[in-house]
Amino acid sequence: MAVFVTGGAGYIGTHTIVELLENNEQVVVLDNLSNSSEESLKRVTMITGKTVDFYQGDILDSDLLDNIFTTHEISAVIHFAGLKAVGESVEQPLKYYKNNVAGTVILCQAMGKANIKNIVFSSSATVYGDPASLPIKEDFPTGATNPYGQSKLMVEHILTDLANSDPSWNIAVLRYFNPVGAHESGLIGEDPNDIPNNLMPFIAQVAVGKREQLSVFGNDYDTHDGTGVRDYIHVVDLAKGHLRALEKLNTAPGLVTYNLGTGQGYSVLDMIQAFEKASEQTIPYQIVARRPGDIAVCYAAPEKAKQELNWQATHSIDDMAQSSWKWQSSNPNGYES
Ligand code: NAD
Ligand code: UDP
Repeated sequence: MAVFVTGGAGYIGTHTIVELLENNEQVVVLDNLSNSSEESLKRVTMITGKTVDFYQGDILDSDLLDNIFTTHEISAVIHFAGLKAVGESVEQPLKYYKNNVAGTVILCQAMGKANIKNIVFSSSATVYGDPASLPIKEDFPTGATNPYGQSKLMVEHILTDLANSDPSWNIAVLRYFNPVGAHESGLIGEDPNDIPNNLMPFIAQVAVGKREQLSVFGNDYDTHDGTGVRDYIHVVDLAKGHLRALEKLNTAPGLVTYNLGTGQGYSVLDMIQAFEKASEQTIPYQIVARRPGDIAVCYAAPEKAKQELNWQATHSIDDMAQSSWKWQSSNPNGYES
């Protein structure tokens, strides 16, 4: 039996596949390489000494999915494939709804046809919008503020309806907080196509000399130093959470939803400081206006995942900065280096 990983050539996918292979799982990957390269999977093999069955193709291609599901015996699906740039989603909402929402519907239809009914879905803390209180628990109200977040929320609703319609489906919705860091080998990591939207890859590119300085989006928030606070989680911790979620699905829980975060908030200036320490570089930055749509503070209540999945994050902010720096400094141009 194999685990089918959509979007497996991407940032979180590659780190999860390393954990799966090291746990002696067989892995089949489908990725259209729209935001990744096959080199990432070669690196996975360098780390683990093991290979995956790779298909370059799209989750929108139902014939391909049928073909894969008849060729391989699949026990469960981890569904990472999706577009994730918030700004782009505002400019091109239909692209996001087609890829993220229609893509998931097509995937689930093919799964149902093949009687594969275990799925782990990559959701996001963005579905909580601007939370009324902190830390954020799974039963807080949801409400997304942009098409990317809406697409995640729509898929959550679709999966809920699916589980309600047929109790033989087992679905784990994982709401990631802010994934950062890289595998300790320095061989895989986050490799944004263009100018990074997210804080950590931007800081890393400044440290390595690819960008002149970081813009800090606002220092007038109601936080300890005025800059935005987030729950950064090491991508290897996040990857391990997926293996725990797969184990949970084997207990036939129906649909379950978990926050994957550390429960700890760090500000933009905290992250700069940690990165400066890890890289022994100064990170030049300037304070600019707030980024529209940003919230002041966001961090998880991680207790439910701890109790029900026996999972908790173990990596510190220094581990996050050090591993990010190791990846960025050994691969200044990402996988093209
Ligand atoms: P990523 O872009 O590195 O990986 C996604 C992968 O999916 C890429 O390799 C891309 O080529 C592939 N893909 C996209 N559309 C596809 C399609 N239609 N068919 C086949 N492959 C397709 O992103 P990531 O950071 O690894 O994120 C993985 C998932 O986690 C995404 O669904 C994302 O929305 C979600 N998520 C990410 C974050 C984050 O900050 N990184 C936070 C919360 C949730
Ligand atoms: N941020 C910043 N400069 C950047 C990118 C991000 O100051 O170039 C801030 C942003 O305002 C937020 C935090 O860093 O407070 C995390 O932003 P990111 O985009 O990484 O994650 P998200 O906003 O999705 O939580």
